[in-house]
Amino acid sequence: MYEYYFVVYITIFLVSKIAHAKKHLPMQLTDLVNVRGKLVWVRANMDIPVTHGRVASYDRLRLERNADTVQWLIRHGARVVLLGHRGRPRGRRNANLSLQPLVPVIKRIFPGTSIGWHGNVWYRHGHITTAAETFLDSILPGEVGVLENIRFIPEEKENDREFARSVAQHGDIYVQDAFSVCHRVSASTVGIPRYTQAVMGKGLARELVQLEKYLACPRHPYVAMVGGAKISTKLGLLQHILTQADQVLLGGALANTILQAQGVAIGRSLAEPKVLRTVKKLKLTNKKLHVPLDVVVAEKNSTYHHSRICAVGNVRKRERILDIGPETVALYSTILDNAKTIVWNGPMGFFEDARFAKGTRAIGRAVSTVHATTIIGGGETIAAVGAQRRLQDMTVVSVGGGALLAWLEGKQLPGIRALMKK
Ligand code: ADP
Ligand code: MG
Repeated sequence: MYEYYFVVYITIFLVSKIAHAKKHLPMQLTDLVNVRGKLVWVRANMDIPVTHGRVASYDRLRLERNADTVQWLIRHGARVVLLGHRGRPRGRRNANLSLQPLVPVIKRIFPGTSIGWHGNVWYRHGHITTAAETFLDSILPGEVGVLENIRFIPEEKENDREFARSVAQHGDIYVQDAFSVCHRVSASTVGIPRYTQAVMGKGLARELVQLEKYLACPRHPYVAMVGGAKISTKLGLLQHILTQADQVLLGGALANTILQAQGVAIGRSLAEPKVLRTVKKLKLTNKKLHVPLDVVVAEKNSTYHHSRICAVGNVRKRERILDIGPETVALYSTILDNAKTIVWNGPMGFFEDARFAKGTRAIGRAVSTVHATTIIGGGETIAAVGAQRRLQDMTVVSVGGGALLAWLEGKQLPGIRALMKK
């Protein structure tokens, strides 16, 4: 008898949970009934490095994440307009940050589709320009239009209401398909969806499903590795991840500030003294937390001549820490070898210079060869691992850096919350 009550109770509990979850899930692209002839804004991942006018093959990955969404819309006869940004142009036109070099890449991803390009700043004096309106009108069902960098328009970052409303009214539907910007509050993430039907794209949905799948209840030992430059943006994550992971491995410039907080002399290394006080609040003696044992240093001058490896306590006044040393690589590799789940964001050193890329490369090799679920994310982290041609060895490659960190912190991302309303 008791078993019977138990089964009934569990069933009611599960059904209510599922109903609850459904209610709080944004509408998906495939829930849309009829998109034929409709103008659909797609927020895409376009923040891609361009060198000498070219995009590296592993960097195309970000745009390819939007392929399913765009293809679905083309197939169903929508008039697609891609919205995206590159870099930080601070609300002004900047030829180096144009989206134009991406147009040939987009053409290659969608062969046989007509791709139009509008290279002017398309919102001025509180209005979408007439030229842009003509361009939008010219997009036929099944065709794609690309508008110039949305961050050339100051109203984007200001999350200007009129701008968002105007964009929304020029179209019929908004699709968020760029996980990498969902942690930001701007017109193209939270403004536009307020004024029109808004749904989640296939690329974004897949990324969220994957993160949930592997990280909602990670297999242990769970190792988090955090490097890169800006500790101030990663502090919240560090605090949170210490409660979740079994081991936390630090590297890159981020580790410098931690070392400094521990009273270690770091010479002229890149650090953020402003956050020292907050850093000290982290339990720095926590046994889970690992900082480099040895480092690669060089005197700070324009060429970084005469690099050397030294123990972390022996950095001289004029030197700069630029990579983790071989002993640290060995220790971290052993820890990674025993892990069942690994999350990695942020290179271990100034890897753009080959002399200081050894640590990051060795870690990239270790992460890609272990028998564990491996999740990496972040622009530079992807670039470093991509250059080694090891991206395909990772379980999940997240296009989000900041967004991945915010997600890991357990925060609901504003760009996703914006899709939930109505
Ligand atoms: P991601 O884009 O993967 O999230 P970040 O943007 O946080 O990573 O940081 C990447 C940058 O950090 C790289 O450009 C790298 O050169 C820099 N960096 C890492 N370690 C150091 C260091 N020790 N000194 C100077 N710069 C560093
Ligand atoms: Mg970065």
